[in-house]
Amino acid sequence: MKNKWLWLVALAALATGIVVAGMKMQDQAPEVTPETSTTNSDLQTTTTSEAKERGVTEEKMVEVYVDPALYDTSSAEETPYDYVSVREKADTESEVLTKLHRGEWATYIKTEGDYVKVRADSGKEGYIPKANTNEVQTIQRLEKATDVSQLSVVLDAGHGGIDTGAESLDGNVYEKDLTLNTVKVVGKLLEENGVAVTYTRTDDTLLSLENVNKLSLKTNPDIFISIHYDNYDYPNQAHGFTTYYYYRDGQKLGNLVSQQLAASLPLTNNDVRFGNYYVIRQTYIPTSLLLELGYVNSDHDLSEITKEDYPEKVAQGLLKALEQYVAE
Ligand SMILES: [Zn+2]
Repeated sequence: MKNKWLWLVALAALATGIVVAGMKMQDQAPEVTPETSTTNSDLQTTTTSEAKERGVTEEKMVEVYVDPALYDTSSAEETPYDYVSVREKADTESEVLTKLHRGEWATYIKTEGDYVKVRADSGKEGYIPKANTNEVQTIQRLEKATDVSQLSVVLDAGHGGIDTGAESLDGNVYEKDLTLNTVKVVGKLLEENGVAVTYTRTDDTLLSLENVNKLSLKTNPDIFISIHYDNYDYPNQAHGFTTYYYYRDGQKLGNLVSQQLAASLPLTNNDVRFGNYYVIRQTYIPTSLLLELGYVNSDHDLSEITKEDYPEKVAQGLLKALEQYVAE
């Protein structure tokens, strides 16, 4: 099944310019090269309601750029081209304070010659070459929501179209269908509770990960949640659901989501983990999560996740987590 899956992904890669990251233990979201022809205005956004009025602050941010010709997405190991060193001073010799991965967003402070001073998610401030940054973007930050009805959330159904994602051992169940169904049920419950929900897809289509993030930039949400179901190299050897974050704000929400899903789902909780995934790294929304909601190639998990009420249990857990999140 794995070979078939990889073959399909390879086809998808040819068709859409996707470069596939190494398939490791977890079902990794494939990476996409930055060049595509779709512009922001071509993207269809389906936002169901407007979030209630809140105060706005503006923040200047930059995305870390590394020439795609330099890095190898087929390697699962980190290479020096996967990140840029953040230095104490605007030169190549000063102390390295931290590093920023390609696609990672940092707060823009100022430009100094050929360098840009930034603040990393860790809070560390330093200089990176201007050549390693994309255009400075002004991001509107909404005042903290105090009620779920003030929240604006992007729900991303992983995979779609030619990219089926993980497959069940009998080949009858595709991850792309599970994610879409789950997102629809979750979205419905959130909408009923006043949340403004934007969907990256509402049918069986493949959206490049770059466009998923462009769409998010356009709708400026509080929270981004990418829904996936998992795959493991060996059938029936891995079980449970896992909550991934990249930025620290995501970790906070991730802890609440993990606890609430554990209370509502019949599967093992594999806990909250740092995940270097494209969709949650290459986004300016720090409150981003990638949820793996059970293993499609585990017959145990599959029997649970294909039950009719499973998406509703996911939805109830997520709603409770969001209620706690705004109450904090
Ligand atoms: Zn997936």
